[in-house]
Amino acid sequence: MSSAASTSAPVAHNAVPPPAASAAGRSSRIAPHSHIKGLGLTADGIANPDGAGFVGQINAREACGVIVDLIKSRKFSGRALLLVGAPGTGKTALALAVSQELGSKVPFCPIVGSEVYSTEVKKTEVLAEAFRRAIGLRIKETKEIYEGEVTELTPTESENPLSGYGKTVSHVVIGLKTVKGTKQLRMDPTVYEAILKEKIVVGDVIYVEHQTGAVKRVGRSDAYASAYDLESETYVPLPKGDVHKRKELVQDVTLGDLDAANARPQGGQDIMSVMGSLVKSGRTEITDKLRREVNKVVQGYVDQGVAEVVPGVVFIDEVHMLDIECFTYLNALLESPMAPTVILATNRGNSLVRGTSDIVSPHGIPVDLLDRCMIVKTDTYTRDQIGRVVQLRANVEGLRLGEGVLERLAGEGEKASLRYALQLLTPASILARLGGRTQIEVEDIGEMNELFLDAKTSAGMIEENGGFLGGR
Ligand code: ATP
Repeated sequence: MSSAASTSAPVAHNAVPPPAASAAGRSSRIAPHSHIKGLGLTADGIANPDGAGFVGQINAREACGVIVDLIKSRKFSGRALLLVGAPGTGKTALALAVSQELGSKVPFCPIVGSEVYSTEVKKTEVLAEAFRRAIGLRIKETKEIYEGEVTELTPTESENPLSGYGKTVSHVVIGLKTVKGTKQLRMDPTVYEAILKEKIVVGDVIYVEHQTGAVKRVGRSDAYASAYDLESETYVPLPKGDVHKRKELVQDVTLGDLDAANARPQGGQDIMSVMGSLVKSGRTEITDKLRREVNKVVQGYVDQGVAEVVPGVVFIDEVHMLDIECFTYLNALLESPMAPTVILATNRGNSLVRGTSDIVSPHGIPVDLLDRCMIVKTDTYTRDQIGRVVQLRANVEGLRLGEGVLERLAGEGEKASLRYALQLLTPASILARLGGRTQIEVEDIGEMNELFLDAKTSAGMIEENGGFLGGR
């Protein structure tokens, strides 16, 4: 590196308050799927019966594998994957697995269709925000420290168009004779102030701490006799002769994070301090203008080679809950050049498209959007498969199952649903612990089974009572 540019490029910001950081909510939605590590396919795209935490669902997993290939070869833009199947058949798990197959740092942003109905935020804004949170930005910065004797100190003056008070320093060039040779660093006016304060002149030995896009610290070596140690991240005595250290810093954020961070006023900042100031607070809208400004700055970082855009996955569960206005907006979002991969899921058959009085269409999705979808169906599980998923969850949650428990849960799952069987697991483990036992026994399941109704039993009871809960 022969010269270091001093142009720090602050991400533009205005006074719009940031949106809610729903990261905690999102991760709690992903927690039940922590056993899922991918689609579990061979190199030929064939699904292992049990693989990467997935049990069965062979056709759907292989179909999703094809979609992953299409996404990777950039042949899926403008389209969406629609997963259709009964509740608890692994649609969310499949969507998460698709994002995992795309890369470990690929953002996955799950929302439920009904989330768009908020009193505070426009429906379309909720969708726009989810899309922004599904686009990652990998920032690669380098931190470097140089030390050497000042051979040149040239402040460059320019007219200050704002003040009208004549000249001002626009940058300063420092020549530095290090043990590896002479180096020229171009720095911004704030560094010049530090140089004046320290009374640094040609012949002094100084150190310069530089992070992509900005000089962080300049000082007289003998005065400070210390510099930032890149390994320990602390200021330590400078080992003489060790004049040039370099460290790669990588940080993953999403465009949604940047929108939120830049919606609050801050001082001048480089990209890393913007990241550092990400603050979680109440939900408010972010303007399109702000997003455009963030995009512009991001594009600048991409052009400089400092950042790389990582398109992720936005997953809209219960997509039939969206209305016609949202579907129209979704069509437009799909067209945008920076769109993430869109995965939709529903368990509905023919339904009325919400927001219309007479448009009935498959899954409650308007046909123009349906036309853009590749549709994959999920199958219901056998008793044996339910047992295997329950065992996987028990392993992940560190729960020990006594004799006959797995069979009992598999049976409950077959009668009701996989999700019901999984839902019995945690309360049963609490019951076992309260009883001073280290493993769940069949009677714990029995007790939970009496306390909590599954959806089918609940629906059956209502039916028996002529549509009411009884007790009238
Ligand atoms: P809904 O329609 O109600 O949103 P869903 O189809 O999205 O349900 P999931 O939430 O993905 O279903 O599945 C319920 C639970 O079962 C999750 O913990 C999920 O990880 C697990 N699961 C579902 N299918 C499988 C599978 N084939 N292998 C392993 N785990 C699975």
